[in-house]
Amino acid sequence: MTLAGLSGGVNTPARRSVLISGASISGPALAYWLHRGGFAVTVVEKAGALRAGGYPIDIRGTAIEVVRRMGILPQLRDVHTDSRLATFLDADGSTLAALSPATVAGSVEGQDLEVRRGDLAEILYAAVRDDVEFLFNDSIATLDQYERGVDVTFRSGRQRTFDLVVGADGMHSQTRESLFGSEERFHRHLGYAFAIFTMPNTFGLSRELVLWNTPGKAAALYAVGDSHELHAFLNFHQPAPPLDALRNPGTQRDLVAAVFADAGWEVPAIVKAMRDADDLFFDTAGQIRMPHWSSGRVALVGDAAYAPSFLTGQGSSLALAGAYMLANSLAAHPDHTAAFAAYESGLREFAAVNQALVDNGAATLFPTTERALEQRNSMLRDLVTMPSAPPRSAHSALVLPEFAVIP
Ligand SMILES: Cc1cc2nc3c(=O)[nH]c(=O)nc-3n(C[C@H](O)[C@H](O)[C@H](O)COP(=O)(O)OP(=O)(O)OC[C@H]3O[C@@H](n4cnc5c(N)ncnc54)[C@H](O)[C@@H]3O)c2cc1C
Repeated sequence: MTLAGLSGGVNTPARRSVLISGASISGPALAYWLHRGGFAVTVVEKAGALRAGGYPIDIRGTAIEVVRRMGILPQLRDVHTDSRLATFLDADGSTLAALSPATVAGSVEGQDLEVRRGDLAEILYAAVRDDVEFLFNDSIATLDQYERGVDVTFRSGRQRTFDLVVGADGMHSQTRESLFGSEERFHRHLGYAFAIFTMPNTFGLSRELVLWNTPGKAAALYAVGDSHELHAFLNFHQPAPPLDALRNPGTQRDLVAAVFADAGWEVPAIVKAMRDADDLFFDTAGQIRMPHWSSGRVALVGDAAYAPSFLTGQGSSLALAGAYMLANSLAAHPDHTAAFAAYESGLREFAAVNQALVDNGAATLFPTTERALEQRNSMLRDLVTMPSAPPRSAHSALVLPEFAVIP
């Protein structure tokens, strides 16, 4: 028997129950919209609490409309990073170009937002925590689908039955793996590995991004507001995924340090800070591309289904739009098979054009050859003289339908 079945009275139609795995961006956003659509929602997150941290992320185009409809646009405007400057440096640290960050990213100034990932997660969570059940420090151990529901056993040992389950558990989704098989089948490696960490702001940077490049190597420092901390980023060309470093976190610092051993500017100080960092995040740049985003009563949302990679800057926007479209489809269609089909047909094109940004020049911030770097630099010089760059049409390529009322 489902939880929805337990809660249903004689005259009250039972609320359909949904378990969401993952409480970062797509999970809480989906929970919000499903609650509005009349569902009983539970979110399970393997971390002990909402995860803070992460680089600033962008909310643009269609995703701005999603957060406006959620009523959280004012809070997000309050935490907008409002970065003023993006400075590009060459190998010895001399300035190549200084631009507005929105121009570089193809964002619409005064409309699109850049916020700390942790701030976005916190605001989404606050919007929904009183209305849905959150289970922290737990995760799905097994999923057994049958005709009328999904039996879930959690790692903690608790057992529950839900009408539907959604994996919002990110790029390396366990839900995807348990349903569709190993990540390699869906992962498109984009040729880079990177390390992100925080370090003391000993450079006196404020509301700005500084990016240093040589062919195949980039170091960036991001000062959000006047913080004493900088977000540091070391990115490098890696044609095949560094499997050893991905499997053995102990070797990640050595790999990054070896790649940047002969780098100029302040890179040696950044590498030293990486060695001391207690929040190092190491991964490869990649996308998830799947032929289908659901199987039976289980679906995927956000990075788990269609991660576009940081090279597009569209991960969170796609996650927000995807959460809206999935909840809307489920609210509109009593039959989950029809709902999941509508979710896919409504979102697939938007996911595809945003993933395609990497093939249309979005990776030009990280050129891998001398020639590509020269071309990138000349493009930057052109941007300096332009009044403003046009926004990227991919960011707004989805017009949201009105949110469905329960049939
Ligand atoms: C701590 C953190 C830092 C990040 N930093 C950046 C960044 O600097 N730049 C950037 O572009 N993107 C970053 N991201 C990714 C960014 O949030 C996503 O690209 C995008 O917002 C899509 O979000 P998502 O909710 O689909 O997936 P994610 O944001 O990846 O969230 C997945 C969530 O699922 C949880 N989870 C994973 N496995 C399980 C499981 N088995 N059971 C239960 N829960 C599980 C994770 O703890 C996480 O909370 C970060 C993500 C996290 C979690």
